[in-house]
Amino acid sequence: MKELKIVVLAKQVPDTRNVGKDAMKSDGTVNRAALPAIFNPEDLNALEQALRLKDAFEGVSVHILTMGPGRAAEIIREAMYRGADGGYLLSDRAFAGSDTLATSYAISRALKNLQYDLILCGRQAIDGDTAQVGPQVAEKLGLPQVTYAEEIQRVEHGAITVKRRLERGVEVVTCPLPAVVTVNGSAAPCRPRNARLVMRYKYAKAPQEAREVTGEYAELLDRRPYLKLTEWSVNDIRCEAGELGLNGSPTKVKTIENVVFQAKESKVLTVDDAGIDELMKELITNHTIG
Ligand SMILES: Cc1cc2nc3c(=O)[nH]c(=O)nc-3n(C[C@H](O)[C@H](O)[C@H](O)COP(=O)(O)OP(=O)(O)OC[C@H]3O[C@@H](n4cnc5c(N)ncnc54)[C@H](O)[C@@H]3O)c2cc1C
Repeated sequence: MKELKIVVLAKQVPDTRNVGKDAMKSDGTVNRAALPAIFNPEDLNALEQALRLKDAFEGVSVHILTMGPGRAAEIIREAMYRGADGGYLLSDRAFAGSDTLATSYAISRALKNLQYDLILCGRQAIDGDTAQVGPQVAEKLGLPQVTYAEEIQRVEHGAITVKRRLERGVEVVTCPLPAVVTVNGSAAPCRPRNARLVMRYKYAKAPQEAREVTGEYAELLDRRPYLKLTEWSVNDIRCEAGELGLNGSPTKVKTIENVVFQAKESKVLTVDDAGIDELMKELITNHTIG
């Protein structure tokens, strides 16, 4: 294989295991500052698939593309600690409040700045939970897409062979490149950080972060260009302003309700046939199922 340029779409998401009452702003958008931020779990699975191709073949490059506020640069560093070659932070107030249509539009415009043979992304993000961005990006770029990937089995003759995990079992498909592949959480977990790579890239900064650093730190960034992460604003991607952010988002989050279970709402069942039978009857009676 001559070479393979892989771009992994990765999102920094609020750690929804710690959602408190100030998680949402009054305009229905996420109060990202109030929540610990993590690497979207299935994007780590996508990254691992990319890094396995890099292990297996010469000439494979792996770069991250993430759209988010300045602190999303942490996603790029995390990926470089595991073996990615670098990344692009797409960050601008104009993207704030984007629904999936506006998000996939901005990402697809950013991808037009790049050369790629394969775009990998997670099946779903744990905050919006729509699983729409991957397929939308493929559609906007006119690329074939393979979703619910569990394993990239082969890349040869300009095509990719993928094992998909579906509700009714597995399926193996072959698709011409370039293509978009969304990766499931059932795929192999991502390798841990590599200590040597952490030492090498821990001072890497995106421009808006670098503006905050002074003294020997700033000199270090100048001396080591590989520590300078690429950052794109709305002016770096050719796009229609009306298609971005809240303006470009037909989906408006009306209200968000924190669902907090009350003790009286829970019920202890005996773990035997009678208990399960009682549960099934109740779920059918209250139309939860059936
Ligand atoms: C509680 C909640 C509910 C929402 N409901 C909706 C809704 O119903 N409809 C709607 O249009 N929007 C909705 N949104 C907004 C939506 O979260 C954002 O548009 C988001 O950027 C993309 O959608 P998603 O989180 O569902 O991602 P998904 O479509 O689930 O993401 C799939 C994959 O796309 C890639 N990706 C997604 N976002 C980014 C990014 N910013 N940077 C890089 N890669 C990315 C990742 O690889 C990710 O695994 C909701 C947001 C919240 C917080």
